[in-house]
This record gives sequence, structure tokens and C-alpha cells, in this order.
Amino acid sequence: MLKIDSHTHILPKKMPNWSEKFGYGDFIYLQHHKKGFAKMMRGNQFFREIKENCWNPELRIEEYQAFNIPIQVVCTIPVMFSYWAQPLDCLDLSQFLNDHLAGIISKYPKNYIGLATIPMQDAELAIKELERCKKIGLVGIQIGSNINDENLNEERFYPIFEACQQLDMAVLVHPWNMMGEKKMQRYWLPWLVGMPAETTRAICSMIFGGIFERLPKLRVNFAHAGGSFFATIGRIEHGFDCRPDLVAIDNPINPRDYIGKFWVDSITHDPLMLDYVLKLQGSKKITFGTDYPFPLGDLTGGKFIEEMPLTKKIKEDIFCNATLEWLNISKKNFVLD
Ligand SMILES: [Zn+2]
Repeated sequence: MLKIDSHTHILPKKMPNWSEKFGYGDFIYLQHHKKGFAKMMRGNQFFREIKENCWNPELRIEEYQAFNIPIQVVCTIPVMFSYWAQPLDCLDLSQFLNDHLAGIISKYPKNYIGLATIPMQDAELAIKELERCKKIGLVGIQIGSNINDENLNEERFYPIFEACQQLDMAVLVHPWNMMGEKKMQRYWLPWLVGMPAETTRAICSMIFGGIFERLPKLRVNFAHAGGSFFATIGRIEHGFDCRPDLVAIDNPINPRDYIGKFWVDSITHDPLMLDYVLKLQGSKKITFGTDYPFPLGDLTGGKFIEEMPLTKKIKEDIFCNATLEWLNISKKNFVLD
């Protein structure tokens, strides 16, 4: 069974010091302080330590051989989005990251599929970069769950989604810039509570804002099994029913009708939860994902899914078909059969 990991992150080993280059801002840069490790620095502040499997494509392929997963969908780490920067500077940074991805994909076409990052804060520049990324072999984009605290249904983002549909570029929505982050620093709550809420915020904004209604061919995948969306869909639907004056103001269609029209990945760490999402979404709309190489990801290569009593067909959908359909790519690109 072919396995594709639809959700992994990668960085270039060497990146410019953008804060120095642009003369402002806490851009991320890497300090390679010891062999096989680097510190991600945000301005002068330590953000996170990463290991070589975050930047070395050969090592990543090797590590994935142990799980029998030949293909990784790669995108940057959300903290790199830099939507807060001057648009042209964010474009410069995005181009650097996208060119790096394109290089890996052309060097290892059987192992990597790439999702770009684009300056969402400026639709015109974002679309220009989207068009360029399509030409250099990337098949979609990864965007944040909010753009500088603005929700994804804001009219100024609409042309970007429209261009994605037109250009046949897929979208991965990833939580970042978590709501309430400053008020819940302890216990890693921004990651444990904020991230699932962010993803739900993104799904609800796109549904209630009518994005899926206006762009029915737009192919969107939401990270971490849609965050808390499926766990709270009853409440969301009830809110839509009981207070349409608040909820149904831009789109009169029941939010539940959109289930199965977008994708979510499998990162639940919980077979019961995955089974529940599977019942709602169907196997064709759940893409196997891990969040490799980060510790909060599924670093067992989907072992809990393997162990679930699912049919071979359902597993095949999750491990590969759903991702192929989301990205609109053919299995033939990767296997000879
Ligand atoms: Zn991720």
C-alpha cells in the first residue's frame, strides 16, 4: 500500500538573517549551535530547537523508510509565514522558502510534494507568487488559520482563494498565531487548546463566510483532523439553527452540509476520534498526516491507524487516495504499475 504523509514541515538549512536584511522585525533565523541541531531564533529570542531531520531531505527519506512511507508533502513551519511583515519583504522571504521546496522536489520527485507559502497580507503579491509557485512545480499552498488576526472569510482574501481554484492549487490551512496565546502561556496551552480552536475558527469562517459555496472546486485540507470542529459540530449546527440572525447572515446553508466537501488530516492521536471523524467525513476526505518531525506529531508513521480494524480499502484511502485527490495528482507519478 502506497503511503503519503500529507502534513510534514521542512526548512532550508541556511536562511538569510531577514531582520538584518530588512532592518526590522523578529524574523526567524537558525543558529547551528551543535552538529545535527539548530536553534530557531525569533529575533534574539529562542523559539525552538530543531534537529537535522527538519532540514536534511536525505535523512528524512531514510527515517521514513523505517515506516515504509516513501512520500512526504512538505511545507514550511507556520512561524515562518511572516504575514506581519511588509508585503514585499514577506514576498522575498516566501520566494526563498518556495525556491528551496522546488529544489527538493526536482531533486527527489518520487519522495517530495511541495506546498508553498505566500504573502497573504497582500492579495496581489500573493497571487503573483501563487502563479510562480505553480510554474516551479508546487501543487498548493499552506496558509494560517487567521491572517494577522483576520478571519479567512474577509473579502480581501477572496481573490487568493479564487486564484487557487482557477490555478488548481490545493490549500492546507494550518493553525498558528493562536487566539488567547498570551493569556495561557503555561502548560503548552496555545498548542493544546489554542491550535484546535484556531482550526475550528478557520473552518467556521470559511463555511459561514460562504467561501466553499462560492468556490465549490476549491480543495482545502484542515490540519489536525479539523481541530475541534467535528467534536463541536452539534453545537455549531445548533447555533446556526437557533440564532440564524447571528450565524446565517452570509450563507444560509447548514454547516453540516459542508462535511465531506473539504479534507482533514488524520492527526488525532486517538483511534476513537479518528473513527468518529471517519464516520462523518468518509475515508476519501481524511488524509494521512503526521506533523513530522515535531514532537506533537504522530511520530510512529500512523501506527494507530494501522492497528484500527478498518478495511484495506479505507486504509488505502486514508494512507494515499485522499491525499492524491486533495492535491489532484496521479499515483502514476510515484509508482510504476
Ligand atoms: Zn503542522
